Amino acid sequence: MEFKQGDRVSIEKNGTVYEGKVMPSMEGYITIKMKSGYNAGFSTDRVRITRLESNGEEGPKNGKGVKECKAGGEPPAGAGKILPKVAILSTGGTIASKIDYRTGAVTSQFTADDILAAIPELKEIADFKGRVISSILSENMDSDSWQNLAKAVVEEIEAGADGVIITHGTDTMMYSAAALSFMIETPVPIVFVGSQRSADRPSSDNAMNAICAALVAISDIAEVSLVMHGTTSDDYCEIHRGTKVRKMHTSRRDAFKSVNSLPIGTVDYNTREITTIVDYTKRGEKSLKFKPGMEAKCALVKFTPGADPAVLDYYINAGYRGLVLEGTGLGHVSTKWIPMLRKAVDAKMPVVVTSQCLNGRICDRVYDTGRDMLKAGAVEGEDTLPETALVKLMWVLGQTDDFEKAVEMLKNDLSGEITECTLK
Ligand code: ASP
Repeated sequence: MEFKQGDRVSIEKNGTVYEGKVMPSMEGYITIKMKSGYNAGFSTDRVRITRLESNGEEGPKNGKGVKECKAGGEPPAGAGKILPKVAILSTGGTIASKIDYRTGAVTSQFTADDILAAIPELKEIADFKGRVISSILSENMDSDSWQNLAKAVVEEIEAGADGVIITHGTDTMMYSAAALSFMIETPVPIVFVGSQRSADRPSSDNAMNAICAALVAISDIAEVSLVMHGTTSDDYCEIHRGTKVRKMHTSRRDAFKSVNSLPIGTVDYNTREITTIVDYTKRGEKSLKFKPGMEAKCALVKFTPGADPAVLDYYINAGYRGLVLEGTGLGHVSTKWIPMLRKAVDAKMPVVVTSQCLNGRICDRVYDTGRDMLKAGAVEGEDTLPETALVKLMWVLGQTDDFEKAVEMLKNDLSGEITECTLK
């Protein structure tokens, strides 16, 4: 290798110079940590690398005896051809974060343009336009944030974007992805991406996730999807459907998993190839439709053994318009909860039942309690994830005030949230 870990180097690529310290890098690549705290990765055959300072173990120091890797003989990918237009909307989260050394906490500090500057390889994939929607951690998102985000996405598609990337905190990314899945019928890919480790950590997943997301944004997959590491290695990302995905680990880079469905496909980080696994909506198959409207007064309630049914009474009296229950097993609450469930339905509040098992399908026809829940008017959420069921309920009640119509909509698959045959 012409450079080693810890060296301070400058890297020239397409006329732009990037400076930073060499991080552990894969064969054929160089990753540097820049002053901004962001990591940037380059393929060594496409750049000119100049060592400014050695890490002291060997080799020249302070720019004397500069060593260079070969500059790429071929023009950079993308040179001379018209690249697809991709809008990148930043909302905050770890992908836009670094450690604030005053407080020691990780905070959102980067905009969409900072992310583009820090991951120069993105510019070989598409012609990007950055736009800041917010700079918040995703635990601070709410249904108004989802609607603002959806509106911005629609504006970008109307303005001619061939794809849209949304950088987002991972904690609630699946709620936002589900919300946009219900609100927007899209002719182009809408891709959510985040990172589990902030940019200033050597193990940050920001660059690989962003590059894979960009490849999906210019692909044929015209759905709302979520693209994140598929394994703990830097080998491939998975493309998850926005209504079928869940964060399943607090810290692992491959925290997101499709539940009750296979992922739409994968993106190989090395070959940059997308392999699709299930059917998906193709680019241009649908025309753009925006259906905003979200009822915030809905709740997701987890039933636990011995839980007081008065919990439901609270929501009824507080004017909530609908409830999702996270029941046990096939979708149960205790017998004591059933009169209260009936009271909610009598008050024209749809009650949707999901399972805290997450995997599998609701079936309230097997046991007495389930049958009584159905008699009381509960709607089976089939194999919908509880969080997706909540977002769906909020969206449905944002579309109609008619209880019967809402129940009908809730029973149907609207955006891939209910699959016909759940995987065993
Ligand atoms: N708490 C952060 C958020 O969801 C975590 C992350 O971005 O990964 O915004």
